[in-house]
Amino acid sequence: MSDDDVNRIDCPRCDRPIRAVSSTGPGTHRAHPCGHLVSVAFARWASSKSDDETDTP
Ligand SMILES: [Zn+2]
Repeated sequence: MSDDDVNRIDCPRCDRPIRAVSSTGPGTHRAHPCGHLVSVAFARWASSKSDDETDTP
């Protein structure tokens, strides 16, 4: 039983699970740990998902 499946984010480029998305500039967002560049929309969606996860007790 794992909650990871519910909040799992897959990289749109390689389909690997993403643990974090970091922004290195305007319009430049990188997925970790695979290191692929992702779109702004994806980065927002991913960060809102992880915010949700950490916000929930
Ligand atoms: Zn990737």
